[in-house]
Amino acid sequence: METNEIKAQVKKDFENVKNNVELAQVSAKYNGKNGVITGLFSAMRELTDKEQKSKAGKDLNELKTLAEQLYNEKELQLINEQRAKDLSGIDVTLPAYIIAEGHLHPITKTIEEIKAVFMRMGFSVEEGPEIEKDYYNFGALNFPKEHPARDMHDTFHMEDNYLLRTHTSPIQVRVMEKNKPPLKILAPGRVYRRDAMDASHSTVFHQVEGFLVDEGVKFSDLKGTLEVFTREMFGKDLKVRFRPSFFPFTEPSAEVDVQCVNCKGKGCATCKQTGWLEILGCGMIHPNVLKGVNYDSEKYTGFAFGMGVERVAMLKYGIDDMRLFFENDVRFLKQF
Ligand SMILES: [Zn+2]
Repeated sequence: METNEIKAQVKKDFENVKNNVELAQVSAKYNGKNGVITGLFSAMRELTDKEQKSKAGKDLNELKTLAEQLYNEKELQLINEQRAKDLSGIDVTLPAYIIAEGHLHPITKTIEEIKAVFMRMGFSVEEGPEIEKDYYNFGALNFPKEHPARDMHDTFHMEDNYLLRTHTSPIQVRVMEKNKPPLKILAPGRVYRRDAMDASHSTVFHQVEGFLVDEGVKFSDLKGTLEVFTREMFGKDLKVRFRPSFFPFTEPSAEVDVQCVNCKGKGCATCKQTGWLEILGCGMIHPNVLKGVNYDSEKYTGFAFGMGVERVAMLKYGIDDMRLFFENDVRFLKQF
């Protein structure tokens, strides 16, 4: 048979294909192991005349390319036909079905926001273990043994002087032990207290710890840093105030209030008519803590601060019950 006749037959066969089964059959008829084109290639290789062989090779390659092209065209045509069939009876003018997308939990989002503010100020992020040694949670942070300050943290104790960390401050000690100043660290994480669950307490919650150690760090550096934070987090019009406080690991210590996000300082139920909301604790790192990690406390000073993430999120979003963050009610989570 002449290649031209075969070409015509190939075209006709592919044209007549009506479904995928027939397509496979026609494809096998020509390109299969015992197919027509495969057979012709074998015959061509037997030719002894060089010129004849070369011409036959060229013709066969053209034929092979044609069959492949026809196959691809037919395959596409069948797919399009099937798609049209699938869509018939569907009103394509109907509005699209909106697939609900998931998103980050409001606590995760708040941690990310806090991190972003401090990272812009040059802080880097560190983490530490949730199962912590008594030494890192209390001792290295200048909590004397049997001191009533330990009672402020209702602790889950474990065997061999291990406990579930009650705050993120142990990360301070761990980072300082391994590094030399200057340090500018932010340490977010989960913490545990033996508290009963209510609107403002939970056995597990999140804190973000921050600290900076360098030569000549002053309380005014701490104030400036936290003012930038509250402005970026809660808005630039709200005032900030520092009240004297006590923490074993800082001296002097302060608690920081921001003007009530709800009433802007006028007084409302959220701020118990005071116009202020407490957002974090802070202070200058106690010289005993610096000495404990073999820093020269005459040369280096530093500040530290810690805040409850749930509290920040509650104030920022106007949520009055902490339990909402842990119940995972989709109706609540969807609002963020
Ligand atoms: Zn208020």
